[in-house]
Amino acid sequence: MESNAMVWFRKGLRIHDNPALDRARRGSSHVFPVFVLDPSYLRPDPSASSPGSARAGLNRIRFLLDCLTDLDSSLRRLGSHLLVLRGDPDPAAVICRVIKEWRIGKLCYEFDSEPYGQARDKQVEDFTSKLGIEVFTPVSHTLFDPVEVITKNGGRPPLTYKSFVALAGEPSESLVETYSQLPPVGNVGESELLSIPTIEELGYKDIEQEEFSPFRGGETVALQRLEEALKDKEWIANFEKPKGDPSAFMKPATTVLSPYLKFGCLSSRYFYQCLQDVYQTVGKHTSPPVSLVGQLLWREFFYTVAFGTPNFNQMKGNKICKQIPWGDDEELLVAWREGRTGYPWIDAIMIQLKKWGWMHHLARHSVACFLTRGDLFIHWEKGRDVFERLLIDSDWAINNGNWLWLSCSAFFNQYHRIYSPISFGKKYDPDGKYIRHFLPMLKDMPSEYIYEPWTAPLCVQKKANCIVGKDYPRPVVAHSTASKECRRRMGEAYAKDQSIETDNKAVSGSKIV
Ligand code: FAD
Repeated sequence: MESNAMVWFRKGLRIHDNPALDRARRGSSHVFPVFVLDPSYLRPDPSASSPGSARAGLNRIRFLLDCLTDLDSSLRRLGSHLLVLRGDPDPAAVICRVIKEWRIGKLCYEFDSEPYGQARDKQVEDFTSKLGIEVFTPVSHTLFDPVEVITKNGGRPPLTYKSFVALAGEPSESLVETYSQLPPVGNVGESELLSIPTIEELGYKDIEQEEFSPFRGGETVALQRLEEALKDKEWIANFEKPKGDPSAFMKPATTVLSPYLKFGCLSSRYFYQCLQDVYQTVGKHTSPPVSLVGQLLWREFFYTVAFGTPNFNQMKGNKICKQIPWGDDEELLVAWREGRTGYPWIDAIMIQLKKWGWMHHLARHSVACFLTRGDLFIHWEKGRDVFERLLIDSDWAINNGNWLWLSCSAFFNQYHRIYSPISFGKKYDPDGKYIRHFLPMLKDMPSEYIYEPWTAPLCVQKKANCIVGKDYPRPVVAHSTASKECRRRMGEAYAKDQSIETDNKAVSGSKIV
């Protein structure tokens, strides 16, 4: 008797520790591994401010294609292959169609807690429940099930990291079994299957960008990167955030595993266990919130709060978000987005975002603070949108959570502590190597002026081939006065808005200079 199962890949683009794939293969004569390409995610948008689609920058699209190619190769080694379908009119509708066509009796896909994923999966659930198909949707993108944590907390998400950690407990163990063979793919009938497209086949031609992200996607790279990090047991054991140099770009100060976790090329559960194994062998190690395990728990914290908070991604209608009368100066926003604020530290970070799609955590802090409560007083949702499109690790829960944090809209309320766009970066990188790399027009500026080129005498600017106001912009605001005005406006907004839900008065934050 034939029994057809389908594993529907969305995130979770991996073979290791993949409960959906594991369940699909058990007792099935055929397994159909499917990925649906969503045209709205991939289609070039010529009106966008940088190469990519309306929803994703080119770096992330390329990263996704890498992930799919790698997944397909791994499946082929197991006697299977990835079935790539066009998501017309939308991915859920396509899945419903092929479930019928291919006589699928068992459908397996990873639980997705994001609103977009929830709505998409609801469509499929409604369809499968009518057909009486077995559906398995394990929680495997995160360490913990947000529903369980919220239930344990009486139906509300815990609103501090500490209370989250106290509730969460230990995650379940990852699957250790490795496969040598998967059941073969069944008959796909008349369905149109696509090959994994290249960037050029998607319509991205003649892209003028001299530098792309050095981070390539896929489970193979993810596991290599993890293995490399784990070799340095001392580093793992002593990892402490927010310590670490945000300007280190050739060898970043953190793992750069976020894009792999975002697409699920790396199982967070497996990562967590590897860290625990290192801790056991070395003995003494750092602890949450600053340790590497602590970083994974930040991820969990934001996933849980995001899942349990209506309108988490906006200020309006969001019970945990301070109501702040943010400005909407389009010129300032564009200057920030395009790396033209006139503050080299801020601009270099924004150019790294454009070129690489990844920046260090404290670099993200600097630019998010600058845009919102530090200098420009622009709505955090605008900055969130720019990050959402350009980051290769762009993640709905984590991105919104951190923007809420940095703008002092939720979780963190010490709005008087503002990052200096001058002295903060200088502390780590006095010579400005990071700035010189990402802002080549400043490469010959003497170190003493690299963070404040507008203070360099004209003869120095001429010698450095960089005239401020011509080759590099003047500062869009004066930090000393702009930051004072921001503090005043935040104070006013806080005084007016006392209605915020917290489960502790204040959330302790990372040290800000
Ligand atoms: P590591 O320090 O090596 O940490 C390991 C993992 O822990 C990360 O890969 C990540 O999954 C998790 N993690 C680390 N820091 C955080 C954090 N503060 N919150 C939640 N999880 C964390 N991270 C994203 O993955 N996607 C985003 O869209 C995103 N947007 C952000 C927006 C702003 C404004 C800020 C300030 C931070 C944002 N972060 C985001 C969090 C953090 O900056 C990145 O996760 C981290 O820099 C990724 O680098 P890494 O993998 O080397 O981190």
